Amino acid sequence: MGGSQDRDLGMHRKITRRDFINGVAVTAGAAMMPWQVLGDDSNASEKAHNFYPPALTGMRGSHPGSFDAAHALRDGAFWDSVGKPEDTGESYDLIVVGGGISGLAAAHYYRKAVGEKARILILDNHDDFGGHAKRNEFRTNNAFRLGFGGTFSIESPAPYSAVAKGLIEELGIDVPSYSKYVDKKLYRSLGMRPKIFFDKETFGAEKLVVNPHPRGGNESEDADAASAELMKQFLAEAPLTDQAKRDLQRLIEEPKNYYPGLTSDEKKAKLARISYAKYLQEVAGVHDDLVKLYQALPHPLFGVGIDAVAAQDAWGFGLPGFDGLKLDPAPGKGMNRDAIPNEEAEEYFFHFPDGNATIARLLVRRLIPDVVPGSSLSDVILSKANYAKLDDSASPVRVRLNSTAVRVKHLGDAANAKEVEVSYARGDKVYTTKAKNAVLACWHVVIPYICEELPELQKAALSSAQKVPLLYTNVAVKNWTAFQKLATNSVYAPSMYHTFVNLDLPVSIGGYECARSPEEPIIVHMMKAACRPGRPAREQHRIGRMELFSADFESMERKIRDQLARMLGPGGFDPARDIAAITVNRWPHGYAYEYNSLFDSFWLEGGETPCEVARKPHGRIAIANSDAGAYAYTDEAINQAWRAVGEITKG
Ligand SMILES: Cc1cc2nc3c(=O)[nH]c(=O)nc-3n(C[C@H](O)[C@H](O)[C@H](O)COP(=O)(O)OP(=O)(O)OC[C@H]3O[C@@H](n4cnc5c(N)ncnc54)[C@H](O)[C@@H]3O)c2cc1C
Repeated sequence: MGGSQDRDLGMHRKITRRDFINGVAVTAGAAMMPWQVLGDDSNASEKAHNFYPPALTGMRGSHPGSFDAAHALRDGAFWDSVGKPEDTGESYDLIVVGGGISGLAAAHYYRKAVGEKARILILDNHDDFGGHAKRNEFRTNNAFRLGFGGTFSIESPAPYSAVAKGLIEELGIDVPSYSKYVDKKLYRSLGMRPKIFFDKETFGAEKLVVNPHPRGGNESEDADAASAELMKQFLAEAPLTDQAKRDLQRLIEEPKNYYPGLTSDEKKAKLARISYAKYLQEVAGVHDDLVKLYQALPHPLFGVGIDAVAAQDAWGFGLPGFDGLKLDPAPGKGMNRDAIPNEEAEEYFFHFPDGNATIARLLVRRLIPDVVPGSSLSDVILSKANYAKLDDSASPVRVRLNSTAVRVKHLGDAANAKEVEVSYARGDKVYTTKAKNAVLACWHVVIPYICEELPELQKAALSSAQKVPLLYTNVAVKNWTAFQKLATNSVYAPSMYHTFVNLDLPVSIGGYECARSPEEPIIVHMMKAACRPGRPAREQHRIGRMELFSADFESMERKIRDQLARMLGPGGFDPARDIAAITVNRWPHGYAYEYNSLFDSFWLEGGETPCEVARKPHGRIAIANSDAGAYAYTDEAINQAWRAVGEITKG
């Protein structure tokens, strides 16, 4: 893009962001491996008074410096580049690898089982705790705005287990009280509703059109949007070919039995083995424009498009084209749990302004009370975490950030050893520390590299948990008048870099006040799934992950500014003037991989699933994380922590 276009987009403007070159922090004159930029063998950096990661902007999530040690380990380059490990002399009852909700919950359950004096060390490679459940803070025109950098809300396709619900209640979260905090009618009262952005490269014209059946994104108040009136408006305005419009009407208004002579189960078996994209093209015979229109709809759930989502799952989501099949409403074999409607689960929903970072903060408060001052749900929202207290020798529980576990092994054979030794990279050094037990609550694909003594079959199962690569981008804007003028609070953009763009959910809680007037600053949340349509899901995730790891912040920023200018420009939005700050939460290892009837035959045929093999305990080492349930939700992170701790504390 040329210099003048860059100026129009505001690339030259000083906004709140850090400057990185190709994703690596610039250290003048340094000749160090990227993970060594910390260059410090104490935890002095986290103790500094200005160490406050939630307020950092720019590239967050898997931020520069957080993944290089693990990648060097994967590439076989790590051990040659570091000196002899240094013994910290520390000894714990439990070491937890991974400071996400699963790791924090594991520490919590371990204390409940063993007692509050239990000495626990939690290691995490990031500069903040919470794993995917990250808090983003912004100050824009004197307004304080909270955003979620990952895990958005308490929600799950199936009801929370008694264990997970129990922890949520123990933390003081009253899920049914959510309606007290959210202003569900705000956007609708301002005449705003979900829209679709058609781009000229894909659809021949640039246009924002009402969304006749919104799905995905952060919407929950728009159930009535599929009305005939909206469809009429959509068909009149959408830059789709006449054939595509006729096909859409046909799909909805003239239901057809595409599989005559088959029973409902036989039809479902066929639908489980064909993608929704193929079903639309080859079975329903619709125009390609419709496939392009629906392509990115499943991004918020699976991080892939309809080319990699089974038609049976599309039926579960209520997408068009299935009415004529007259399927039995019971879930079919091989359906993804996300696609099985469940009313009880739908009602169990709570969104904090910083997403489930509030859960992580409440857990840390339980484990180390000095870190998150206060005692109630209402005071946790605005409580400023004191990072200097996270890794304090006076506390029985310690959280050590910027520390990547690089080796976990029993001292002796797994069946008889009394201790586990954990080595971790921090700054330019490697340290060792010991514990009676370890819980690996980190991403499963990492485990074969750090715990070599595991059986080969288990390592293969762990490696198959290819996480879903995602971007959760937060853009702090000075006002949202352009959204109001364009009468939308939520845009689905099927062919753009970010496919979902939403104004923040209007939640006020614990002294935190959301933006209510379009003149006030707000956070615009943008979501991207990095995928390569047409390939098997795991392959799409692998390619997308490489794309996200290799992209630099500047190129992402340019795409963000360009997209917002194109979508919102007709409403008066000027990216150079209106953007105050950008935080890209990059998650190349995002959602846990969920089994898919198109690519995972065991999911259709039954038998032991890879996650059951992957999570088997090994001597004094147990394995948690939402990967252990192949289910990308907070309740699973909690369930798996509870199971893992049970395995090492029983008997
Ligand atoms: C963008 C996004 C949005 C989501 N939204 C929702 C939502 O709305 N609701 C919901 O229920 N779920 C959501 N999820 C799913 C989310 O993953 C789970 O809810 C839950 O937060 C996962 O917790 P976890 O502890 O299992 O894993 P994680 O949060 O991934 O934590 C694991 C931690 O281990 C660390 N780690 C990895 N390797 C090492 C190592 N070698 N040494 C030290 N540390 C290591 C990782 O860096 C990470 O910090 C979302 C996920 C993403 C990515």
